[in-house]
Amino acid sequence: MSSTTLESTPPPRRGCLACNRPLRHTFVDLGMSPLCESYVPAEKLDAMEPFYPLHVFVCDGCFLVQLQEFVSPEHIFTEYAYFSSYADSWVEHMRRYAEAISDRLSLGKKSFVVEVASNDGYLLQHFVRLGIPVLGIEPAANVAKVAIEKGIPTLVKFFGEATARGVLEQSGPADLICGANVLAQVPDPNDFVRGLKTLLGPGGVVTIEFPHLMRLMAENQFDTIYHEHFSYFSFLSAEYIFAAQGLTLFDVEELPTHGGSLRVYARHAEDTARPMTERARALRQREVDAGLLKLETYAGFGEQVKETKRKLLQFLIDARRAGKTVVGYGAPGKGNTLLNYCGIRTDFLDFTVDRSPYKQGKFLPGTHIPIFAPDRIREVRPDYVLILPWNFQEEIVKQMAEVRSWGGKFVVPIPAVKVLD
Ligand SMILES: [Zn+2]
Repeated sequence: MSSTTLESTPPPRRGCLACNRPLRHTFVDLGMSPLCESYVPAEKLDAMEPFYPLHVFVCDGCFLVQLQEFVSPEHIFTEYAYFSSYADSWVEHMRRYAEAISDRLSLGKKSFVVEVASNDGYLLQHFVRLGIPVLGIEPAANVAKVAIEKGIPTLVKFFGEATARGVLEQSGPADLICGANVLAQVPDPNDFVRGLKTLLGPGGVVTIEFPHLMRLMAENQFDTIYHEHFSYFSFLSAEYIFAAQGLTLFDVEELPTHGGSLRVYARHAEDTARPMTERARALRQREVDAGLLKLETYAGFGEQVKETKRKLLQFLIDARRAGKTVVGYGAPGKGNTLLNYCGIRTDFLDFTVDRSPYKQGKFLPGTHIPIFAPDRIREVRPDYVLILPWNFQEEIVKQMAEVRSWGGKFVVPIPAVKVLD
């Protein structure tokens, strides 16, 4: 019967987010995982929890590493728990950026700066202080509200071609459009970059920050893969997407944030006043030399990830068998990917702590590890503190220095499990 044949046919996979070729090659398969920002309140602990595949592919046409979209961004981002201002080093990172770029582009009272995914205004507040007109665009209403209360004009919307046209009509073209940790999160990067092209004034500059795929691969950062991140960019795959919409990447900075990020600088393709910088050329070449334009370079990553899991579990099993107490520090998205993939629950980690009051009193998605305020660690005096946001390890070790006074030790899980000296 023809209907039976139809039903037994697996659903067709969607094509590459960037170039629409069929996706045929696995980069890494982390199994099924809950949405990493959906912290569970106590009254919902017994309810069903949706899990979705974390299966990452690499495109054999444009080499974009990407997740299939299983969850709509509306579902993920309308009530988002991540408030950027809770991480001190991140706020400081963005203050330095605001000052440097205002200088470089000679921004002033007549300029117009737009930030896409402006979160709680952690960046735009610095431009406001410099007297530069700004507009934030932020889809999560609860987060945008915090920015508006701080006096930062914020539009509660997703960014793309349509939103860009609206802003252009209302406020005119932008001299600077910036975005940090947003490009990876858009389900249609072509529409997003088209929006940048539309809103950017002549001679204007776009800067976009994203975690660097080359670092993710070299340093085993598989825990930065989650449903909220659809794409994992190299300079080369970003260049491909920008070029397709008439934007040229002409400069790049390598940043230490999020385990190693790139900040790419784009301009209109026809704006030849800004030639490609030497450092952009050099990074591009390093990616080519690292094999990022060859499929086989991506093929070994899955095994590397499995070995990282085995080593972390080995450490935890040994510690618990020896009667040691182990707790977590932090409740970041990356922690949830790590803990769910490795199957680490309260059998290994008694609890975790987080500075964000939004997360305290709730439970980690999937693993249901309870989240307390950081003081809990001082009360319990554990033997090991596993730092889940390992990208903030220096800051955390400093904040929690007291742990060492009772002989406690800090542990990081990535790139491989390690007890810090
Ligand atoms: Zn592609």
